[in-house]
Amino acid sequence: MTSNLRFQMVGEAFKKKPIDVEAPAERPCEYFGKKVFNREKMYKYLPKDVYEKMMDVMDNGAGLDRSMADAVAAGMMQWAKENGVTHYTHWFQPLTEGTAEKHDSFIEHDGKGGMIEEFSGKLLVQQEPDASSFPSGGIRSTFEARGYSAWDPTSPVFIIDDTLIIPTVFISYSGEALDYKAPLLRALKAVNTAATEVCHYFDPAVKKVTSNLGWEQEYFLVDEGLYAARPDLLLTGRTLMGHDSAKNQQMDDHYFGSIPERVAAFMRDLEIQSLELGIPVKTRHNEVAPNQFEAAPIFEDTNLAVDHNMLFMSLMKRVARKHGFRALLHEKPFAGINGSGKHNNWSLSTDTGVLLHAPGKTPEQNLRFAVFIVETLMGVWKHNGLLKASILSATNAHRLGANEAPPAIISSFLGKQVSELLDHIEKADRDDLFRIDGKQGLKMDIPEIPELLIDNTDRNRTSPFAFTGNRFEFRAVGSEANCASAMIALNTAVAEALTNFKKRVDERIAVISKRFENTEHNPVFHAIIDVLREDIKACKPIRFDGNGYSDEWKDEAQRRGLDVETSCPVIFERYLDEDSVLMFSLLGVMSRKELEARNEVKWETYTKKIQIEARVLGDLSMNHIIPVATAYQSQLLRNVERMRSIFPVEKADELSARNLKLIEEIAMRTASIETQVDELVKARKVANKIEDEHRKAIAYHDTIAPYFETIRRQIDKLELIIDDTCWPLPKYRELLFMR
Ligand code: ADP
Ligand code: MG
Repeated sequence: MTSNLRFQMVGEAFKKKPIDVEAPAERPCEYFGKKVFNREKMYKYLPKDVYEKMMDVMDNGAGLDRSMADAVAAGMMQWAKENGVTHYTHWFQPLTEGTAEKHDSFIEHDGKGGMIEEFSGKLLVQQEPDASSFPSGGIRSTFEARGYSAWDPTSPVFIIDDTLIIPTVFISYSGEALDYKAPLLRALKAVNTAATEVCHYFDPAVKKVTSNLGWEQEYFLVDEGLYAARPDLLLTGRTLMGHDSAKNQQMDDHYFGSIPERVAAFMRDLEIQSLELGIPVKTRHNEVAPNQFEAAPIFEDTNLAVDHNMLFMSLMKRVARKHGFRALLHEKPFAGINGSGKHNNWSLSTDTGVLLHAPGKTPEQNLRFAVFIVETLMGVWKHNGLLKASILSATNAHRLGANEAPPAIISSFLGKQVSELLDHIEKADRDDLFRIDGKQGLKMDIPEIPELLIDNTDRNRTSPFAFTGNRFEFRAVGSEANCASAMIALNTAVAEALTNFKKRVDERIAVISKRFENTEHNPVFHAIIDVLREDIKACKPIRFDGNGYSDEWKDEAQRRGLDVETSCPVIFERYLDEDSVLMFSLLGVMSRKELEARNEVKWETYTKKIQIEARVLGDLSMNHIIPVATAYQSQLLRNVERMRSIFPVEKADELSARNLKLIEEIAMRTASIETQVDELVKARKVANKIEDEHRKAIAYHDTIAPYFETIRRQIDKLELIIDDTCWPLPKYRELLFMR
């Protein structure tokens, strides 16, 4: 056999040592945010009046005028230059996933034959990147007006290497969003408005409600050399073939185990750089699968948390390479072992505290808690199909529904205490809810929720949307995804539920207030209880505390009217349901045109991903697997022939029984691979003729993707019988255990 890249790479991986990471002289609190133009830097580098105006912009969404932008840019520029910065870029989140940036240097002609460095408010605030090759679903054809990027002053600028990075939205000249950030900001505004109004029933002083996000990022690390010898990992982010390793995660010995040294060095490096960039990373540990890990920061305002996650993912890839690893963010890089998700811990809080924290100090606070829990459930129930669409992608589809991750049905786990509370509100005698020690008044006892629940116990790991004491944990989000997609859908759905709630409560107050005149009763609370009781009943189908992996749940969910569809391109249709379009447009988050355009992009992206996988699988089958299988088969054939030359034929064949069987098996399997690859190519040709992106994606899902499993089954069997020294691709045991 020719020299085997796999063996060479395994040998090199074996010799790799952890890289020394220079520990900063300072403590983390001192270098935290060192590379961010945060409030502290603004205070130092901006004139007092500009600083105060900036605080108003950041805290209250005040406008930013041109002269102020110039003053801010000047301060930023000064700070940036002191840090060796020569370039700046608008940084945005196009629909391709990932982030985009185009760097410009500060230099300009000075008119006297030399150069000066310049950075004006105009350059800070708005730019027109030539972004015609970003997907826009047809909103911005190359003939129409171009898109522009505009600074998001609520997410501070930061420095990477020699470049000042400016977080921006990316929109078309006619105002349509071409990115994730613009609709996210609109969704956050909608939930702020709706939730603040509901809070006013309880506390008129509440000024704003913030949506919080704490993400937990799972990922795999693979040795870089081994990765390079796997064209499927390189081009698709996952292994399209590979037989199970004899040992994988069955011993449960990786989860929370001691972190391997080379990985620990990587993590340390990544954490230092993250903290310098203001990402408050806090947690790190081994995950369930071998070579799988997790990192999590402290939660932040959702917009900032999303930016930080995007930044973290790109940082992670960079730092991994420095340590001789590749970070795999794909949701399912390896068949047969756990995939990677990104739990999105979500909550709402006012300027005075978290809204989903129970129990409160007063009955009013407990009622408010119940309102926010129930209206969250109302949003999730009404739009469960849409929420599923918001987390789905060609890659995350591998994870959903498999026996390890949330099932492909959205439901919510509340736990015993909160369920009992809701049952109590629903069923209690009215007088019971409104009598304290014989006196009239609101009584809302909530059974004490033990701190333990908030920490770790009483968790239902199978629930895609679980209440965990002071937040909901949306677990279905994919590891590779931009969290914004899920956060747009969730926050908008909750905003809609709260808006409807408020409307009905107000109507109810008008009806009942006469009845409570001259009594100690507050008609507002009576109205709230009435509407809450209706909603507790209505959203019951979404509440499920049982095992989300079981088959019974699939049937039960269907009976309850929940969305049980599993085909990714079909699920995307939920974005265009009348209910979704109405919700997004009424709340000013996305117009029908935007939704349609974005769906075009989703379908197109889906098709392209499957198309690339199909090509890679075809190539690998024909160039790597079949030639190696055939060569090994020839070797066996020669052996059989030689046996016949020295023994009588019958005796020889008896002695060659195993080899003869293998020769036949290889012939059958390679023939099957060849036939299927042929069919796959034909199916692709048929699908490619379909013009409509929606139908094309469905064709790719229905007629092409199914071959992946059946082809790999043959290849994985070949891997087991072919001489290990000929096998060209690093095996699962090497990818998963070399570190
Ligand atoms: P676990 O793996 O046990 O779920 P982690 O500690 O890994 O928990 O992550 C929990 C995440 O939830 C962290 O990002 C944390 O800051 C975040 N979190 C905690 N409280 C809230 C809250 N009220 N709202 C949003 N996120 C929260
Ligand atoms: Mg969690």
